[in-house]
Amino acid sequence: MKIVMCASEVVPFAKTGGLADVAGALPLALEKENQEIIIIMPRYKAIDAAKFNLKPSKNGVLSGVLGKNIKVYFIENADLFDRDGLYGDKNGDHKDNLDRFSYYCRKSLDLLKEINFKPDIIHCHDWQSALVPVFLKTIYAKDPFYKNIRTILTIHNIGYQGLFPKDEFGKLGLDWSLFSMEGLEFYGQVNILKGGMIFSDIINTVSPTYAKEIQTKEFGFGLEGVLNKRRNSVFGILNGLDYDIWDPQSDKFIAKNFSADSPEGKAKDKEDLQALCKLPLKKDVPLLGIVSRLAEQKGFDILAEGIDEICKMNIQMVILGTGDIKYHEVMQSMVAKYPKVISLALKFDDTLAHKIYAGSDIFIMPSRYEPCGLGQLISLRYGTIPLVFKTGGLADTVNSENGFIFDSYSRIRLVKTIRKALDAFKDKAGWSALVKKAMKCNFSWEASAKKYLDLYAKAKAKK
Ligand code: ADP
Repeated sequence: MKIVMCASEVVPFAKTGGLADVAGALPLALEKENQEIIIIMPRYKAIDAAKFNLKPSKNGVLSGVLGKNIKVYFIENADLFDRDGLYGDKNGDHKDNLDRFSYYCRKSLDLLKEINFKPDIIHCHDWQSALVPVFLKTIYAKDPFYKNIRTILTIHNIGYQGLFPKDEFGKLGLDWSLFSMEGLEFYGQVNILKGGMIFSDIINTVSPTYAKEIQTKEFGFGLEGVLNKRRNSVFGILNGLDYDIWDPQSDKFIAKNFSADSPEGKAKDKEDLQALCKLPLKKDVPLLGIVSRLAEQKGFDILAEGIDEICKMNIQMVILGTGDIKYHEVMQSMVAKYPKVISLALKFDDTLAHKIYAGSDIFIMPSRYEPCGLGQLISLRYGTIPLVFKTGGLADTVNSENGFIFDSYSRIRLVKTIRKALDAFKDKAGWSALVKKAMKCNFSWEASAKKYLDLYAKAKAKK
């Protein structure tokens, strides 16, 4: 099959979250399945052309290679993309995001014709590329080159919809009749994700449970009705994990490599992490790790409520992440109060992330909602036992066999579950068996890529 992946961030070129991991790893897995695939993304300032050996291609496009032979095209536009931040900077979202990403979507479609790549499937991700299906079925509908191309829209997080004031609708070049309840209108605003959901052939999310959840009022962020109407075209496929990047046996960032069958190195990684985070070097104190955005979605509301109580337990804790200032402040106050217990790194740091996954005993991820979640998959791989709230992809991947899970979202249940995990940690043999079991779980991309191929076939068969 010929496939185009349209994503606004792709590992290793640009990343702010899990979308980039998926958009980088899925094409590689599909290439292994002998599919012909290209990727199209914006060319941001942060992308180092020399490092990735990117070369000028067609007008306003750079290109590079991923994997063996996956061409990656970078849409250039100095006014729109040559600035700090993928979607925003310290002052908030970039004001012209509609111009930026509608340009990217139009250019992506134009590029296909310029390079004469007529795909079976265009696989779009999140609101930033959701205009591709919209344009394809409107502005490009009469052009024979684009006939029979099918689209899939993967929603990585329905909380981010690309909402813009009504005045901006005219910029899209679409008929104003589409600014309606059945179209892109959403409570008086333009909703780009909604447009993608209406016009794509198939809608997909990143776990089976989240696919069900977003069809409910509680999780749908107002789009549950749109999804309900299209429920026969809504699917959920669990993200895989790139096991080449996340492999404790070969990870270059960690102090000592280890595996399920020889897990001894993990103790050294714990010591290394403790030293780096200026925590006492104590083997027997359970080390709790967090790598996350500091946001309510990630459970920081109940974590902030319970953190004082948690810090009083016999634990150590390392938190890496950035996010809401209020959570920065809560955690900073805990560091001031319990400097020997908790360590905080308010930044994005890939190296430290690897060290936390490897060196911690327990990975805390109490997300209020979680489309798939990569943190728990990475931690399982590194024998760091996940402790999660039962929602979305967390419910699909963590259970009492490989981790700790609570099913009622509250501080009390979170704290209680942490106590349960700490009790389990005291039983050395039991804990070693649990670590081994966790490390043997398989969430590689191989299985997920096959499911995507089935989904592409479904989309292709659509009239
Ligand atoms: P999100 O909703 O943020 O996309 P995911 O769990 O799907 O959440 O993916 C988050 C990814 O980003 C994981 O690979 C995680 O390790 C990484 N990550 C999050 N915050 C940081 C950080 N501050 N430094 C390094 N990596 C981070």
